Amino acid sequence: MSTEKTETYGRAEGPVAAVCPGCGGTGPAVRTVADACADPESRSGGLTDRLEKSPGVHSGSDSVVHFLEGMVMAGIGVGLAYSGVQNDKPLYTVGGSLLAVLLFIGTIWVIRGERRERRAVLAGEAHAERLWSPAHHCSSCDSVFYPGGSPCPGPLTPEQFKKYVWTEAGYGKQLDNKVKGVSLPPGMPSGPGGTPGHA
Ligand SMILES: [Zn+2]
Repeated sequence: MSTEKTETYGRAEGPVAAVCPGCGGTGPAVRTVADACADPESRSGGLTDRLEKSPGVHSGSDSVVHFLEGMVMAGIGVGLAYSGVQNDKPLYTVGGSLLAVLLFIGTIWVIRGERRERRAVLAGEAHAERLWSPAHHCSSCDSVFYPGGSPCPGPLTPEQFKKYVWTEAGYGKQLDNKVKGVSLPPGMPSGPGGTPGHA
């Protein structure tokens, strides 16, 4: 964090001057996205979310808990079905069995989805990191840019930036609809697996 700062402020003649292409802002207004995200003010103001590198995922232990919860609920269905059999109430038997089966299938479906998301994030992590960490955020005009102009020359809104990073890293599907609907500037590499930087 501190090395980034000295680089940004100190070396004016450096090859990569962090000057905002949107408003010409420089100095303390311009920080790496990592620094901007780490700022407590960004956390409370929502900027950290808007610049998020990758989707938050449920950990493996979360999935275990979800599985157990699902099985407990399915167990209630089984109990209901059992009491239906005991008391000769076919409605309970059918309803309880149906409930148990649906909950069982639903739980498996949820857990498989969580595992798929975990894998996608893991697979895209390095690529996302490469695109995310060199980017800077300008707090004067709330835009994101790459000081070297690559892979993208112009200023981006945090939403465009997030969409770009997530899409490139292969988890664009996990963007919320608001960000999904944002369009990227023409000429930007897009689509999962696209090759950034040589436009
Ligand atoms: Zn700016």
